[in-house]
Amino acid sequence: MSEHRKFKAVLVACQDGRLGKTNAEWLQKLREGGEVDTILVAGGIQELVFWYDGNLILRFIAWFLGLFGIYVSSVIRGLEVSVRLHGIREIYFQQHEDCGAVGGSSAFDGESEELEYHRDLMVRAEQIVLRRFSDPGLVLLVRFKYARKLHGESWTIIGLNTQ
Ligand SMILES: [Zn+2]
Repeated sequence: MSEHRKFKAVLVACQDGRLGKTNAEWLQKLREGGEVDTILVAGGIQELVFWYDGNLILRFIAWFLGLFGIYVSSVIRGLEVSVRLHGIREIYFQQHEDCGAVGGSSAFDGESEELEYHRDLMVRAEQIVLRRFSDPGLVLLVRFKYARKLHGESWTIIGLNTQ
């Protein structure tokens, strides 16, 4: 691995191709400060919450397979590389409106309910990540981003952190 570029952040986002152009521009800006790892999976951090904050059986399976170095969640596998190998301390979660992996916008009773669903996922995912990487002296910064659909094919990325 070459040493001349430092790693800045890791982005966990949905693989949805409609976001490709918006995210490419957004990432280009972010990359001015260093490399940005990207973990793209359907539904973004949804699978992380599903495995690690779901029912006890799922959590047990995730923990048990973890003993053998098997990751049930590619989000965790990716974060392990970013945090432990690349030394990244800044994590971006990006969820988006009308995500097919959670049933699309029609699965919700309005825009604000949809946004709250994703904010809740991000709060839960942040807890999972902070528990997993709780080594002394390791301070992670987790930023919540949400891509909202504008008219046509364009999206706008807003921040959802409360503090
Ligand atoms: Zn999606």
